[in-house]
Amino acid sequence: MVDWHALPVFYSSPTLLVVDAVEVLPRHSNKTYVMIPDRDIARVYLHHTAGAVPYGLAGPMATAGFCIRPKKWMLVHGRKRNIGGRGWAGMPYHIFIPYLPIFDMGGRAVVFLTQRLDAWSWHTGGKMRDGRSRNKFGAGVVMQGCMSCTGDPLQGPKDLDQLLGVPSPFQELATITVLGGLADEHCSAGRDGLRCHSDAGKPSCPGFAGEIIVDAVRAA
Ligand SMILES: [Zn+2]
Repeated sequence: MVDWHALPVFYSSPTLLVVDAVEVLPRHSNKTYVMIPDRDIARVYLHHTAGAVPYGLAGPMATAGFCIRPKKWMLVHGRKRNIGGRGWAGMPYHIFIPYLPIFDMGGRAVVFLTQRLDAWSWHTGGKMRDGRSRNKFGAGVVMQGCMSCTGDPLQGPKDLDQLLGVPSPFQELATITVLGGLADEHCSAGRDGLRCHSDAGKPSCPGFAGEIIVDAVRAA
């Protein structure tokens, strides 16, 4: 496996380094996402992976691997459950924010470009209020880890189990920087275009900590 240091740089600022992992991630053997050159990105959706937190490039590799694995249905306690993957064409999310901190020699936070911004990938189902497809006109940013606590943000996590389900401090800062940068540089609606998956019919994604982050960056 390629170490992230060997990856090309997609973007760098004094605080953030986005390395391009698109070419090294596993992809489906015959399905492909549609590419739309210079497509209009009207929304940026924040997600969580709802999975484990392998370190470094192993993180996006694992998430991409899960997403392309075929679905596999099994009866569990009399109910049909998918114990396989998603069967998708490739990594659904455009930017991947690792849970554990990664810094470069300059002290910049390292995150991964995991899908071309031109890719019409599958991360947020359904249509916007104006009838346009969320995926066709949206980019996906994902925080690695399971952060699905959906309690009252004002009350905070109820217990330690819920407390574990929040972004790491590294991840919060990196997510704030990435969402602001993507909205300002690539989103036709600017920061008004920032959304959570929970705004689009998936209440558990990305969890209330992610919702707080999106609200904060929209208002900034
Ligand atoms: Zn999601």
